[in-house]
Amino acid sequence: MKEVTYSSTRGEGVKYTASMAVLKGLASDGGLFVPDHIPSLDKTLAELSEMDYQNLAYEVMKLFLTDYTEEELRGCIANAYDSKFDTPEIAPLSESCGSYYLELWHGATIAFKDMALSLLPHLMTTAAKKNGLKKEIVILTATSGDTGKAALAGFADVPGTRIVVFYPKSGVSPIQEKQMVTQRGDNTLVVGIHGNFDDAQTGVKKIFGDNEFARELDEKGFVFSSANSINIGRLVPQVCYYVYAYTRLLKEGRIKDGELINVCVPTGNFGNILAAFYAKLMGLPVGKLICASNTNKVLFDFFESGTYDRNREFHVTTSPSMDILISSNLERLIYYIAGNSSDRCAQLMGELSGNGNYSITADEKKGLADFYGGYADEAQTADQIKKIYEKSGYVIDTHTAVASFVCDEYKAKTGDETPVVIASTASPYKFTRSVMNAIDPEYDKKTDFELIDDLSKLSNTAVPQAIEDIRSAPVLHKTECDVNEMKSVIAGFLK
Ligand SMILES: *Cc1c(COP(=O)(O)O)cnc(C)c1O
Repeated sequence: MKEVTYSSTRGEGVKYTASMAVLKGLASDGGLFVPDHIPSLDKTLAELSEMDYQNLAYEVMKLFLTDYTEEELRGCIANAYDSKFDTPEIAPLSESCGSYYLELWHGATIAFKDMALSLLPHLMTTAAKKNGLKKEIVILTATSGDTGKAALAGFADVPGTRIVVFYPKSGVSPIQEKQMVTQRGDNTLVVGIHGNFDDAQTGVKKIFGDNEFARELDEKGFVFSSANSINIGRLVPQVCYYVYAYTRLLKEGRIKDGELINVCVPTGNFGNILAAFYAKLMGLPVGKLICASNTNKVLFDFFESGTYDRNREFHVTTSPSMDILISSNLERLIYYIAGNSSDRCAQLMGELSGNGNYSITADEKKGLADFYGGYADEAQTADQIKKIYEKSGYVIDTHTAVASFVCDEYKAKTGDETPVVIASTASPYKFTRSVMNAIDPEYDKKTDFELIDDLSKLSNTAVPQAIEDIRSAPVLHKTECDVNEMKSVIAGFLK
């Protein structure tokens, strides 16, 4: 198998093995790690369609994570995709109103982040062992709500690791917050910051770039890493489920071998949809990649105009995990459309951190031809939940509803009848109030846990264990801080 090495999108000039890239998380020049080439699938789609999730995941990931042995990688996969998931299919497909919903929320924290974050701690501790790293790994994470809990669940009490999660104190759903602040594990710290997700993410990136702080901690036996979707160890596991979805449709006779499918993804930090693009580059027959945004439609505007501009009002929406104006993983696509030029990528990212905007050339914009951008505002999102529920009895969460709306709009505008797989990124139980209000505003009078029981009756589904777990769990984390205090909070925790 051809080795894949990783280097920074901004030209740091160092080549890393996959395991070192997983350990480091972010390049020291602030860039993201990208593979030197995208490997091609080396099994046929027919062969892959006979495999279960775990075996298929191995076949995809072995192509990217080439310095992990078969035993190591299979071990990581076995530890990740086990009974923490409430279905042996791991990522089942559900057909509703003419689209296929790929349910990525059957893991421990009922959002799609579990797909990668159940695996990342194992990839990381394996990488530490392989590379003889003796230091304690400190995971620093900024979250718009779902990454935080999924990372906490993945890393809690994992020997040799600690985890610090920063979330926007007023920018997550009550259930998201309750899930995080009730987290157990002596190695965990959860902090509400006075700011939005972008503030949290920028703060974390700044700490990663603070070489002096890194040296101080190094002397105390700590090394930072990231569980955010900028870590290549998050991206690679996400490629697998697009291959899985395709091969399930193939196995069920819904599509023919080689027939194109479109993929529609509710997008924030651009990790999930980038994984779908990587799957396409590996040879998976994917046509359009439909990128769905909420009111924070910075990506929609980018696909329209070729100008990325974060200078705009930030909206807190009912799909908080997509309330993002600096979409980090887009940097990997920019690098790709610039012909793998780290100079050009570094230049554009410099403009973004300086003026808050950049424009790509007409030639570069041609590289975006596979993408279609759309967005749903708050009313359209709520109407879509109601519409799908009334037509089919299927209840989708707010994020999935953004994608579902954009998908229907895409079909109506273009007449494209290619089968579509919609990434369903969260269980409706995670955003119960917004979901139930969308179906009937009368529900707003009830408490969160009454709504959960109502949702169970209405959708004829069992309340997930993740929700049962927080009904009576004590709050264990009460730390809050300003954005400029993030560093000292970390230093305090690592004393
Ligand atoms: C994180 C998240 C998204 C956005 O995914 P990206 O990979 O950041 O684009 C969408 N929906 C839910 C529920 C999420 O948790």
